[in-house]
Parts: sequence; C-alpha cells; structure tokens
Amino acid sequence: MQGFPLEVQKNLVEQLEQQLPGLQVIDRENFQLLGAAMFDDSVDSTLQDKVDTLSTMYERLPLMSSHAAVTLLRHSLGVQKVVYFLRTSPGFSCPTSCRDLDKAVIKALERCLNLSFSSSAAAQLQLPISKGGLGIRSAEALALPCFLSSSYGSIEMVRLCMNDLGAIPTGLREALEQWTTTVGPAIPMDSREFQKEWDNVLVDTIMKRLLAEDTSDLTRARLTHVSQKESGLFLTAVPSPNVGTLLNNEQLRASLALRLGLPLYEKHPCACGMTVDTRGLHKLSCSQYALQRQARHDHVNDVLARALRQAGVTNRLEPQGLCADDAIRPDGVTIMPWSAGRALTWDVTIRDTYAATHLPYASRAVGHASSKAEREKRQKYLPLLNSYTFVPFAIESSGVWGGEAREFARQIGQRITQLTGEVKATQFLCQRISIEVARGTAALLMEGLPQGEDLHELFLT
Ligand SMILES: [Zn+2]
Repeated sequence: MQGFPLEVQKNLVEQLEQQLPGLQVIDRENFQLLGAAMFDDSVDSTLQDKVDTLSTMYERLPLMSSHAAVTLLRHSLGVQKVVYFLRTSPGFSCPTSCRDLDKAVIKALERCLNLSFSSSAAAQLQLPISKGGLGIRSAEALALPCFLSSSYGSIEMVRLCMNDLGAIPTGLREALEQWTTTVGPAIPMDSREFQKEWDNVLVDTIMKRLLAEDTSDLTRARLTHVSQKESGLFLTAVPSPNVGTLLNNEQLRASLALRLGLPLYEKHPCACGMTVDTRGLHKLSCSQYALQRQARHDHVNDVLARALRQAGVTNRLEPQGLCADDAIRPDGVTIMPWSAGRALTWDVTIRDTYAATHLPYASRAVGHASSKAEREKRQKYLPLLNSYTFVPFAIESSGVWGGEAREFARQIGQRITQLTGEVKATQFLCQRISIEVARGTAALLMEGLPQGEDLHELFLT
C-alpha cells in the first residue's frame, strides 16, 4: 500500500479487516518470512530483537554451574540462535547488532566464569575448540561466511526460479565486496557453498594475528599447543556428574584461564619460597606439589585401566616382578595378551608444556614435552621390550597428547566398540582422559593458596 496517501491506506486496511477478521498489518521494519528479513529495513531491528531476548537469558546463566552454562552458550544459546537469520538475511550489513550480541555473550561468560577477558582472550575464545578457542563463536565474524555460503548454495535455485541464468541472490554482490575489502580474495568457486570453508579463512587470520600480537615463547607455546585437537577435548564432553565429566566452577575457571592465558589470581608466595605469579604456572612444575601431580597421574591411569577392562582386557596396576630390576615397574600390565600373544605394559606420564626446561622448545615444536617423555620412557623400560608390548602414555599440561597415547586410546576405543557396539567409544575415552588432565591441572593451580583461617576464627563462637 506504500505510495498511497495515509487516508487511503487506512480505508483499505479497514475494508480488508472486514473481509479478513484478525488481519495484522506488519510494517517493513518487522516484515519477516520464515524467520528471514524481507526488506533491508527489517534486518537490523530483527537482529536487535533477538539480541535483547538473548540478553535476558544470559542474565540467568550464572545461576547454573559454569560448565553447564559454557556448554549451553556453545551449543544453543550463543550465535546458534542467529545463524539461520545470518544465512538468510544480510546480517553482515548490521555490524553493530552483531557486535552487541558478541558483547552480551562475553559479558555473560565473564560473570559465569569470574574471569576478565582481554581483547586477545575474547578473540581466542571465539575460535572453534579444535583451533584453540572455546567454540563460542562470534556473530560479527560469522555473518559473512553464513550469508556467502548460503547465497552460493542457493544460486542455482534462484536462477531457476527467476528463469534468468545471470541472476544472483540479493545482497551477494555486497557481501562479496565486503569480504574482499576486509578479509581478502574470495575462496575457490567450488568451495563457496560451504560455510566452514569461508570460516576457516577467518579463523586462520585471527590465529595469525594473535601469534603476531605477542611473540613471547609462553604465548606462542600456549596458542600452538591449545590449538591441537586433544587439548580441547575436555570442552567437548557433555558435563555430567554421573559419569565424572562435570568440572566444578573453580576447576573450569582455572582450566580456561590456563587455555586463554588469563590471570587466575593475585601473586602469592609458594611453599618453596618462590613467588607464584598471577597465572600460577610455577605450580605446574614446582617440587612442592609432587603429590598433587601423582594424584592427577593416578586418575588418568585409573581411567585407562578401566577402559581396558571394558575392552575385555583384564589388567593390574603397579605390577611388580616384571623384570629383575625392581625399579622397572610400569603403571599397568594386561593379564590377558594384548596382541600376537604378548601382554602389554603401559606407563602414564604428564609433563608440563610451560616448564622452564620445555618452554623454549615447546614454542617452536608442538608436543616437544610429550615426544621427549615417550623417548625417555622407552629407554627406561628397555628391559621389558623383549617380553612385553610397551606403550608410553604421555600427555602435557596444555592438553597435548603424545602420538603413542593417541594411538593406544584409539585401539582401546576400537575394541570397546567391537564388544559393545558403542561407536563413540574412542571419543568418550579421550574426553574422559582429557577431563582428568584438566581437573588435575586445575587442582595443581589452585593448590597451596592461603587458607582463610581468620574467617574460620570469625565464625567460631
Ligand atoms: Zn614453588
């Protein structure tokens, strides 16, 4: 009815309402079809409405456990709520609303985790888990990959409907122009319908920027190690107290501070006399915390032994008498033969990526500490190699796994799958081990903090 005088429009509406009772008149700013904005005028207002609704939900997130809140933000309450809209409407033309959503998510995370995110930490956490982030994606960053892939995916259909071989979806030209201006050349034509292909370019650009912003050994080692697949497995597990995959608030907070390179607490003295800095990395290799490191090791070893039993391979821990030298005592041995009639022994070790002895190498080679541990363990258990198959199961405090640990977990998982039919057995096993490493490392970081004795005195009457 646009173009008609207001009086005429009003009369037309009245006549229509008589014929169609309950008719609703929708203005251009709110006009949507199947969730997609029909006019450019309605893109920003629709997006802003979604941001406002989500912001209300975010205020309630701190009422639940941090682990559950982070999982919800990653899977359903974050950018997923607007991905369909961004694929069907030119959301890239409304960066302010996209940024508002990202800010609301970051603010909710800060409240849930009791952490303060620097701009580089915020950029890192918005990366996929397999690339070093928390998998809580940014609406602003995804707007172009969403729209471009969706447009290229529907271009043939548009041409067919329009009966025009040269037709292109509305907004595609502008989106492509914005991409070439802000990111670089468009990706190859045969990949353009895949959102992930556009996204990968952006993710790599962000990681390169983060690495260039801080060239210290510590940051380089952290970013290159946490962007390995295994290091983020603890974040992919469904948090459940029943199966032991739920991290409590402090454990998750410490694990994420370590992953994102954030301060965890104020400086304080260590029991060894040195000063623990705000990130607490000293505690990961301090001799005062050998018992706590042993506890972390034992938990991982226990998960391995239980997984082997589930795979039908009975075993015993801390076996004695495998060889004449009593000092040669691995963490476990299978009672049943593992393969080709030979029993298997294994030894778990968790090394600190950020220890002073590893850091200069770790900043240049991912998995330096675990590879070194594998070589050392093989050397130590040389006397067993004639009689047993030996597996050094090396993991690092950054979450990176040694190659032999990866392969061993895969083989155990495969056997569980054959026995139980559970196709995700390997994934569950690796997640469970990753959770134990994260939990034990977090416990180390939080160990030795001054206790609130004064407060206890205050409340004792
Ligand atoms: Zn110390």
